Amino acid sequence: MAIERTLSIIKPDATRRNITGKINARFEEAGLKIIAQRRIRLSRTQAEQFYEVHSERPFFNDLCDFMTSGPVVVQVLEGESAIAHNRQIMGNTNPANADAGTIRKDFGESIEANSVHGSDSPENARREVYFFFCDCDLVG
Ligand code: ADP
Ligand code: MG
Repeated sequence: MAIERTLSIIKPDATRRNITGKINARFEEAGLKIIAQRRIRLSRTQAEQFYEVHSERPFFNDLCDFMTSGPVVVQVLEGESAIAHNRQIMGNTNPANADAGTIRKDFGESIEANSVHGSDSPENARREVYFFFCDCDLVG
C-alpha cells in the first residue's frame, strides 16, 4: 500500500448538468484528496493525444467529439492506492454494468457519456497527470 496520485476528468456530460460538486464529494467522502484541479475546454488535438491508446477503436472519433463537446474538469486525486481506489469509486465503464453507489451508476448517461475518466495504471497515471499539470500545480 502506498500513497498514489491519479488523473481524473469530470466529462462534458457532467459539467453540462452542473454536477461537478456532487462528483467531487464522492472523491472526498471516499478519502481521496483533490490536490490539483482546472476547468478547461479540450482541443481536438488534446483529446486525440490523450486517448491515443484508443485510436484504432471504432468509438475513437465519437469519443473525441464527445470530450470536446463542452468543458471538462481535469484533476489530480491523491490517497492510499489512489489509482485502483478511484477506479472502484468510478465503477464499470458502462453505467448499466456499474455497481450501486458508484459515480458511473449514479450519474453516467451511457457507455460513452459516463461522467468520469480515471487512470488505470501507475504508468498511465504518471503520463496523464503530466499531460495536464506540472509539479508546481500539485499541492498535496
Ligand atoms: P475506462 O474509461 O473505463 O477506462 P476505456 O479506457 O476502455 O474505459 O474507454 C475510454 C472511454 O471511451 C470510456 O470511458 C468511454 O467514454 C468511451 N468508450 C469505451 N468503450 C466504448 C464503447 N464501446 N462505445 C462508446 N464509447 C466507449
Ligand atoms: Mg481507460
